Amino acid sequence: MSPGPASPAPAINPDEIRATIAGRVFWCWLTPPIDRLFAQRRQEEFSHLVYVGWPLLALMWVAIGVGGRMLFPAELTGPDGVLWWRWVAAMGGALVLPIALLHMPTVQQHYQKVIFGFGSIVLAIAVLGTQLLVNARLMQVNSYVALLIISILVLPLRLSLVVSTLTSLTGIALGVGTVVLLGRAVDWAMLVWFCFGSLLVMVFVGAVVERQERISFLQGLLLEHESAERERLNQQLERLAHSDGLTQLANRRHFDDTLAREWDRLRREGRPLAVLFIDVDFFKPFNDTYGHAAGDECLAAIGGVLQHAARRPGDLAARYGGEEFVIILPGTDLSGAREVAERVLADVDLLAIPHAGSQVSGNVTVSIGLAVRVPQQADTAEDLLEAADRAVYAAKRGGRHRIVVHQELANTA
Ligand code: GH3
Ligand code: MG
Ligand code: MG
Repeated sequence: MSPGPASPAPAINPDEIRATIAGRVFWCWLTPPIDRLFAQRRQEEFSHLVYVGWPLLALMWVAIGVGGRMLFPAELTGPDGVLWWRWVAAMGGALVLPIALLHMPTVQQHYQKVIFGFGSIVLAIAVLGTQLLVNARLMQVNSYVALLIISILVLPLRLSLVVSTLTSLTGIALGVGTVVLLGRAVDWAMLVWFCFGSLLVMVFVGAVVERQERISFLQGLLLEHESAERERLNQQLERLAHSDGLTQLANRRHFDDTLAREWDRLRREGRPLAVLFIDVDFFKPFNDTYGHAAGDECLAAIGGVLQHAARRPGDLAARYGGEEFVIILPGTDLSGAREVAERVLADVDLLAIPHAGSQVSGNVTVSIGLAVRVPQQADTAEDLLEAADRAVYAAKRGGRHRIVVHQELANTA
């Protein structure tokens, strides 16, 4: 079993947190959602503590048992001896059960209640020792143990200050109540000196520590929030730097980079690279007829068609400039590229954007130049692009609204 993962960064209001940090005086009050988060972090810290802390507790218990026997052989005789060993056994029992329980994740969620129950019993046993033992030195040892238990409850256990104080007070009350029930006299001096005195000091130290922890927690939240925000802005910048604002396709720079990269990669792999050059037909008349804003809308719609056409993971549709677009199809041969080109031509037709100024159709159409090549050492990516560009010119000359393949162009030339 291992401790659970850390909780995810919450949606927080940074201004509210800054105000909380600035507004602290004697205590650092948290708003309910942040308070819940703080409690959750403390529970996670407690879960880690369970895995490293229990051997320390077990060691302490063994040290008290063995140490008592070695250091106080004379004192541990008679009724005190019997009582001492009962005391050590009871302490062991009261520690083993909660340690076993707290290894269960479901129980860990309620660790404050579990520790309240068992912690008060452990402290009650120590208090009983201070009251029932006859030998003064043994009594003193027990008082130190009670003091130790109170400091463990208040400081490292990640309990809230209220719960640790209540646990300590309940433990003391249980111990004193048992002494009264047994009909023995209560040693108030010992109680006030060791139990209440140490509790008072520990609660004060615990409060100072917790206040500082709360402030650090808030500062940590702010840092987490700021770095998440920075990461988000970086991604946004990255996206903006690579995309065209009007069509949301890749921009010219991204296209140039991708083309060069794919050219090198496919040259190494000896596989083909296809490029489609797409130019909107009679777009100047479209702008003149319907206005520049309608022209923009038309380009955005065509961008959507191209994005849809470049569907394989390596494919890239980009705005080359103005009303010209390109699609890179890595690892695609002529027949595959022609299929994509035909789909683009047909899908732009399906948009059915009226174009009264077109001489080839009543709607907006495109011409497509297509070039495919297995990259060779001798030629360059620019040659391929130029070939596709020449093909699109040929498509224009041939009547527009069509696809021309550069290779066929060369054959007929
Ligand atoms: P062809 O069929 O030969 O391609 O004719 P064409 O009118 O499409 O070609 P031309 O290159 O003469 O005109 C392109 C026009 O595209 C010119 C310009 O007004 C328009 N254009 C370029 N970029 C944009 C843009 O971002 N928005 C709009 N609305 N129009 C643009
Ligand atoms: Mg053009
Ligand atoms: Mg054009």
